[in-house]
Amino acid sequence: MTVAYIGLGSNLGGRRKNILSAIKMIGAILGTRVTKVSTIIETVPVGGPPQGKFLNAVAEIQTNLACRDLLTGLQSIEGRLGRVRGVLNGPRSIDLDILFFNDQTIHEKDLIVPHPRIKERDFVLGPLKEIAPVVAAKI
Ligand code: ADP
Ligand code: MG
Repeated sequence: MTVAYIGLGSNLGGRRKNILSAIKMIGAILGTRVTKVSTIIETVPVGGPPQGKFLNAVAEIQTNLACRDLLTGLQSIEGRLGRVRGVLNGPRSIDLDILFFNDQTIHEKDLIVPHPRIKERDFVLGPLKEIAPVVAAKI
């Protein structure tokens, strides 16, 4: 069993609904349950084209999946919530990132864990500190 942290973000459509639906759908992935959810905060976009503000949150989960299978599950939830991959760092109905997966370090082309950009993203660090100060202190 693994404890993992997922970063959630949305700046398109029903932002709060997208985040809450994603949390529900993550909890419905076979072998995964959501154990903590941070406050949902509103944040100014970092990088990318001019776009609306985000809502962001971080969830703690317990899962029996391998990290890659978790990524696949999260990407399928992104698809079901209408995520269309367009401009880099552009607006998105939902973004689900694996921040930590126990203490595992993964360096593959399409999967890097811990997530490499946590440090410069206050919209991830803040909610992570709220639900897991010990984990946030590792960054
Ligand atoms: P970003 O989250 O950086 O704004 P995307 O959501 O479009 O951008 O993701 C781009 C790619 O990042 C995905 O195709 C995925 O394979 C890759 N990726 C690498 N590491 C991770 C991770 N820890 N969590 C989620 N996606 C990741
Ligand atoms: Mg992402």
